Amino acid sequence: MYQRNTQQRQVILEELRMLKNHPTAAVLYTQVRSRLPKVSLGTVYRNLEMLYQSGIIQKLEFGGNEARYDGTIDQHDHVRCVQCGRLDDVDLPALAFLGGDCNDFGGFKIIGHRFEYIGICPQCRTKEENQTDDLPAER
Ligand SMILES: [Zn+2]
Ligand SMILES: [Zn+2]
Repeated sequence: MYQRNTQQRQVILEELRMLKNHPTAAVLYTQVRSRLPKVSLGTVYRNLEMLYQSGIIQKLEFGGNEARYDGTIDQHDHVRCVQCGRLDDVDLPALAFLGGDCNDFGGFKIIGHRFEYIGICPQCRTKEENQTDDLPAER
């Protein structure tokens, strides 16, 4: 039983690392099912939480949206499409850490920061441009 759980977790981690689009648990679930036909969404979710709490993967949460998971814990920034939610890695140097005093953070020791770019992805931009062309004269 323990063995099986470990193996499941390994498959889930491998599949997560193969996807570069920071999937939600539900998206990863459909992916994982090709290798683990009997796995449930709950199991995928639980394993993701476990991996996250062990510091093996990242969990990305954006106000109100479903959490997304990132198979790498390397510090990197993200860019998120505000229209379709697509989430890509950004290969630019991170913004310089704003080296504040601990007092600025209510006594917290700051161990990192998250910075997120938001924008409109290429697909949505194309869609938007086409839509503008098709727009009726009156609305
Ligand atoms: Zn988009
Ligand atoms: Zn990422």
